[in-house]
Amino acid sequence: MSSPDTAYSLKLHYHIRWSSSSLLDWQSFASREEAEIAAKELVQENETYTIETATIGCKPCLEAFEQALRRQAAYDRTSTKAHRA
Ligand SMILES: [Zn+2]
Repeated sequence: MSSPDTAYSLKLHYHIRWSSSSLLDWQSFASREEAEIAAKELVQENETYTIETATIGCKPCLEAFEQALRRQAAYDRTSTKAHRA
């Protein structure tokens, strides 16, 4: 089976870790710079953040990916099948 997200998931990417949360932010960024820009906009007073690198299998991305799969599955049910395996 081919996995269309391989190119993306093999790539190094970045997440924001907020000082107020023990979890990484779900949003992923292609570059540290992009993450920094977003973090500077979103950061609240008395809050700090660090930019963390992540690769394949990182939890926030897996969760986002699973949600996307569920949305895709719902979409597939409402659309005609474009191709057969
Ligand atoms: Zn990630």
